Amino acid sequence: MADREVVPPPEWTDQKIGTKVRLALWLRDVIGEGNTFTKAQLRDAFPESAQVDRRLRDLRGDGWEIETRLTLVNLNQHEFLFVRAGEPVWDPATRAARVARRALSVRVRREVFKRDGHACVRCGSQAGVVPLEVGYVVPLAQGGTTGADNLITLCPNCHVAASRDSHTSGEEEVWLRMQKLSPGEQSRLLAWMALDHRPVSAVEEAWQLYRAAPISQKNALKERLARVIGVRDEGDKPA
Ligand SMILES: [Zn+2]
Repeated sequence: MADREVVPPPEWTDQKIGTKVRLALWLRDVIGEGNTFTKAQLRDAFPESAQVDRRLRDLRGDGWEIETRLTLVNLNQHEFLFVRAGEPVWDPATRAARVARRALSVRVRREVFKRDGHACVRCGSQAGVVPLEVGYVVPLAQGGTTGADNLITLCPNCHVAASRDSHTSGEEEVWLRMQKLSPGEQSRLLAWMALDHRPVSAVEEAWQLYRAAPISQKNALKERLARVIGVRDEGDKPA
């Protein structure tokens, strides 16, 4: 264990290591937690890998929190948010755990799917509608086993959510954030809590559509809105 720490983690540019490990190091060293990155940056960094999107998904399975537009509405279509690093996938011990995970036998997977009625245990999505995956109740990194009793059937979305839940912040940490909000924001948050859902406002929805529009349309839309607001402000002026 002790001599393992002497070995520095490899550089993300090291072509000898696998794409997933390089991707993890790139996120950590180039992008940094809390920052966004685009699909184009991803392709520029890994031009040789056609599967880089898939590797990103693999990292989520290792507890890396990477949000997309599907999970965070204020991102645009080609944008990702690197929230937090997960398991140090460049670490040999983590790699050993991964090998164990991959060794999950076909028999065990089949047993788990069958037991769970071939549906995601969180949202109920059925096999055939979504690709089903096997997730850990207690993550391997926290001492979980690869036995069927530590496994559940999940769809890809719920798998991401589940691994995020297992990395939740402490109550005090969350509370501190809540206390820093303005009274108006606190009320809004409480309303979302009551709904257990965050409704997307009309203005946010319009913003998302605008963000996803091609540049020529963006310019036209900006001009049209500016014109309407200009006319309105003009009309508001006392004669
Ligand atoms: Zn699900």
